[in-house]
Amino acid sequence: MYCPFCSNENSRVIDSRDSDESIRRRRECLTCGLRFTTYERIQTRALIVVKRDGRREEFNRDKLWSSMKNACAKRPLPIGSIEKAIDEIETYLVSAGRAEMSSRAIGELVMQRLRNLDRVAYIRFASVYRDFRDIENFKEEVDALLQPKEEEASSQLSFLKDDELTPVGRRKRGRKPKKPTTRI
Ligand SMILES: [Zn+2]
Repeated sequence: MYCPFCSNENSRVIDSRDSDESIRRRRECLTCGLRFTTYERIQTRALIVVKRDGRREEFNRDKLWSSMKNACAKRPLPIGSIEKAIDEIETYLVSAGRAEMSSRAIGELVMQRLRNLDRVAYIRFASVYRDFRDIENFKEEVDALLQPKEEEASSQLSFLKDDELTPVGRRKRGRKPKKPTTRI
C-alpha cells in the first residue's frame, strides 16, 4: 500500500470498517504523516461450475448475465432487475459455501427468479436450459403460464403454489387435471 502523496510504502491503519464487499481503511503514512483511505476488496473463493458433460469451469457472472439478458430481450422489466437477480444468486452461491455447483442447479435458481419476473423470459430461458422430459411437459408449462389476461392477477398470486400440483389454466377452464409436471 503506497502513500498517494509521497509513495512511501509504510503506513499504519487508524480506522477500519467493513462494508458489503470491501473493507474501508483509513491510513496514515509513516513518512509524511498524511492520511488517505483505501478500499480493499475481499477476494472470494472461486466457485466451480460442473457442466452437464462433467467439465468444470469457474463461475462466470458475465456469462450468466448475457444468457439472462438474451431471455429478457425486449421484455418490460424494471431497470436493474437482471443485476438484482444475479446478485441474489451469487449471494446464495457464496453463502451455500460449496466449492462446486452443477450448472443445472444454477439454472434452476435463475428460472425461479425469471418465473417471478417475466413469464416470457422464463419460458425462453427454460426452453434453452431445462431438460424437458418431452414436448408435452413443456407445452403444459407454457399453457399454464400464458393464460388469458383476466386470470392473470389471481394466478400470479398463487402461481408458485398451484403450479406444483396442476397447471392453473387447465384447472380453471374445468378440464380434467393432467398429471403434475415433474419438478426437480
Ligand atoms: Zn506519505
